[in-house]
Amino acid sequence: MFSIGLTGGIGSGKTQVADWLAQWGAAVIDTDQIAHALTAAGGGAIEPLRQAFGPQAITADGCLDRDWMRERAFGDPTIRQRLEAVLHPLIDQTVQTRAAGAQGLYRVYVVPLLVESGRWRDRVDRICVVDCDPATQVRRVQGRSGLTPETIGRIMSAQASREDRLAVADDIIVNDGATDLDALRRRSWSCHQSWCDLASRSLRGSAIHD
Ligand code: ADP
Repeated sequence: MFSIGLTGGIGSGKTQVADWLAQWGAAVIDTDQIAHALTAAGGGAIEPLRQAFGPQAITADGCLDRDWMRERAFGDPTIRQRLEAVLHPLIDQTVQTRAAGAQGLYRVYVVPLLVESGRWRDRVDRICVVDCDPATQVRRVQGRSGLTPETIGRIMSAQASREDRLAVADDIIVNDGATDLDALRRRSWSCHQSWCDLASRSLRGSAIHD
């Protein structure tokens, strides 16, 4: 199935874009949602995380203690790598299962760290970046989560820069401070239409080769 990798920095608007694409008929697979489910109480990553980081990594409710983990992972790249070594194979497994059962006009993988991970370029036909200026990202994330500007700044500085993201983009959806939700929706719709077109052409192409 024709596939898009959808990425963008925190607060860029990629979840909003993905929600519309799903409404319009794309099969959306969100790696962030998968990571959340795996690290929620009863999730498949909880026991491996307990073993890797000790009982203090897990809250009394049985979830990953995100604040505890965030504090350590930001300060220490080896902790970040250990966390990724536990989570990435589990996320990949779930992504593959969902992708195999996906029904839709085309597939969209929502991957916050697509540019950073380097594992996605060969898995998707096109990379789409939702682009936003850093000041607007901070404002949106504050509105959504109540995290402090300092914490948001740290998360952003651990992510790829705006320039690095734009450098690998095949498609760009601008969602800066001057973009209202109507404009974002129109831009997303125009990408959706061009992807439907490409998806049906790639389907015809594969039917000819079969
Ligand atoms: P991401 O998934 O990239 O972190 P979201 O899609 O969750 O970002 O967007 C962050 C917040 O900003 C959400 O509450 C979303 O509704 C809001 N938002 C995104 N784009 C716009 C926009 N153009 N105008 C107003 N609010 C927006």
